[in-house]
Amino acid sequence: MSNEIWVFAEQQEGKVRRVAFELLSAAADFSKKTGSTVAGILLGSGLQEALKSLTSYADKIYLLDDPGLAAYTSDAYLIHMAPLIKEHQPSILLGGATSTGKDLFPRLAMHLQTGYAPDCTGLTIEENGKLIAKRPLYGGKVFAEMIYLEAKPQMATVRNNTFLVNQNLNKSAQVIPISSPIDPSSLKKKVIGLEKAAGAKLDITEAEIVVAAGRGIKAPENFKIMEELADVLNASVGTTRATVDEGWRDVKDQIGKSGKNISAKLYMAFGVSGAIHHILGIGTCKTVVAVDTDPNALIFNYADYGIVGDLFQIVPALTEELKKAMAEK
Ligand SMILES: Cc1cc2nc3c(=O)[nH]c(=O)nc-3n(C[C@H](O)[C@H](O)[C@H](O)COP(=O)(O)OP(=O)(O)OC[C@H]3O[C@@H](n4cnc5c(N)ncnc54)[C@H](O)[C@@H]3O)c2cc1C
Repeated sequence: MSNEIWVFAEQQEGKVRRVAFELLSAAADFSKKTGSTVAGILLGSGLQEALKSLTSYADKIYLLDDPGLAAYTSDAYLIHMAPLIKEHQPSILLGGATSTGKDLFPRLAMHLQTGYAPDCTGLTIEENGKLIAKRPLYGGKVFAEMIYLEAKPQMATVRNNTFLVNQNLNKSAQVIPISSPIDPSSLKKKVIGLEKAAGAKLDITEAEIVVAAGRGIKAPENFKIMEELADVLNASVGTTRATVDEGWRDVKDQIGKSGKNISAKLYMAFGVSGAIHHILGIGTCKTVVAVDTDPNALIFNYADYGIVGDLFQIVPALTEELKKAMAEK
């Protein structure tokens, strides 16, 4: 086994996702304790920009730039990554708890017959290189700490916004190009087209600030006021299942048990009643603000700050005040 910490540098359309930089920054901290080398593993096609953005964050980058990897499929990524991991035997393999990470990592763990901690909200390391993974259970009511007994590599996916990005690592990664050993015709899945979903510009799982509206917003066109608030705050707009079921919003913006878990620094809920299925998705948000006309709405039990009031008065007023405050800066 090598003394390397690997980070899966997930990219979309040639842009490396923020969570990869967060994990490379955390890995750099871990390496001070363990003396490990930090490596990124970058797969895709046309990766020059992605590679450039990564080099100051890692000591090494394993690069698989191949037209056959233009779009993510689990079998193509698995077939390319698994032999590489077996060959180099990193001690740790980390990735974002994104839809791709959640699809790929369990398959990799199964293939490598190793231990995997999903959807973590914290990682620490001991001097002997043992990783301690912290993950929320029961919607964030309790946190489990997991250690790996035999597992090599120690694998984990980690939620966005768990670590800060350190832009001052000033590394200069050695790039190790890997040629694809795979005959594309042997792959079982083929992507024949991609359609962009409407909705949040930055995925709600990646945004530092999420503003959400539930059924209290009353009609799909009223989400305009949420978009305006989000623009001022550089936030993404989330929602509840109720509005998704009404066909008002895309399911990719749904927060909760059957939607996404978010770990935003600030979560603001407008006209969201606070049903447990929704709350399960916000358990690890740092600060929660709720606005609802009903003083008994359950959401107030989970909010750090609450306002009993009409969102149609509060959202535009808040947007205006924030605009003024930003202009004065
Ligand atoms: C198996 C299962 C999985 C589920 N998964 C999810 C999930 O992932 N995510 C999710 O969100 N839900 C999920 N649900 C649904 C969940 O139980 C709730 O029904 C849903 O969250 C309610 O959405 P809501 O808060 O938008 O609507 P409502 O419960 O109808 O609440 C609307 C709120 O808006 C307030 N309001 C009305 N007008 C105004 C106004 N002008 N200003 C301010 N406030 C106003 C009301 O007082 C009320 O509190 C799931 C349910 C099941 C059974």
